[in-house]
Amino acid sequence: MSGGGPAPALSLVVPVYDEEENVAPLHAELARIACDLGRPYEILFVNDGSGDGTLARLELLAAADPHVRIVDLDGNFGEAAALSAGFAHARGAVVVTLDGDGQNDPADIPRLLARLDEGVDVVSGRRLERREAFVSRVLPSRIANWLIARATGVPVYDCGCGLKAYRRELVVGAQLPRGMNRFLPAILGVDPSRVAEVAVRDRPRGGGRSHYGLERIFIVCRDLVALPLLVRRGAPTRALARRLATAGAVLAAAGVVVAIAAALLRPQARAFALAGALGALLTAALGRAVGHNVGRFVTAREDGVFRVRRVV
Ligand code: UDP
Ligand code: MG
Repeated sequence: MSGGGPAPALSLVVPVYDEEENVAPLHAELARIACDLGRPYEILFVNDGSGDGTLARLELLAAADPHVRIVDLDGNFGEAAALSAGFAHARGAVVVTLDGDGQNDPADIPRLLARLDEGVDVVSGRRLERREAFVSRVLPSRIANWLIARATGVPVYDCGCGLKAYRRELVVGAQLPRGMNRFLPAILGVDPSRVAEVAVRDRPRGGGRSHYGLERIFIVCRDLVALPLLVRRGAPTRALARRLATAGAVLAAAGVVVAIAAALLRPQARAFALAGALGALLTAALGRAVGHNVGRFVTAREDGVFRVRRVV
């Protein structure tokens, strides 16, 4: 999937969806920092089906700067897919990702690279002072990050920070189902002892608005329960997804039967039976959520998560 010419040492990968006001200022910052680093580099924008003038602005940047490449996707596939497309097309031995809205500060990139050079496989940015609403964004993200670190065993406490540096081997071939970017880098199966965090700045978004609302809290909870299995069991299979779905259905049916029976029982036994029914239903929901995510991983691996319209 790589383009022609000698491979650069460094790929800066930026997924963008409707970021027309932000791409030019971000490019200027990235070009300055990358130039100072003195390594051959490329800036790879992945246009995730933007409906505004993002693509036109990217084409202007590419015409003026030979370091810029554009992977133009054939629709809006989501941030996880846009990152996967960036991983597939990046040619650098080191791949740095960052958001296209200006929230990540390119001035932090040299510190991430220095830490990577000390001998780890991935360095994840950690935003210490968040510039967003505390109750609706920062607090849920802190809780989610703590749970993710517990579930995966990977000591990263700001998975949602888009600024990360990876050794190429770790990301090549990754096909991340929708939303799984929130579990990077653990979801790549990284060795926890080869992961580091570096404090980074958080800035307010440039133009436009976030693409996510409060619904992401529910989605993270649903996906989180599958994490231990996805991270530790290696490649999930369709058979495993089916077994989990069947176990979920059997438990749900058992739960309903017990609940009906409980309603017919004597009052003293009812509370126990209802608790049992509730437990069965919860386990069923868990089985379904895990089966659903295992199935998504298998489909992503078999079919891929993005389609490319063209590469500029
Ligand atoms: N993004 C994308 N496809 C999408 C949604 C978002 O490529 O479907 C990009 C977006 O343009 C930005 C990054 O992913 O560069 C992070 O998105 P956003 O800033 O909306 O997320 P937040 O910072 O609110 O978590
Ligand atoms: Mg953002």
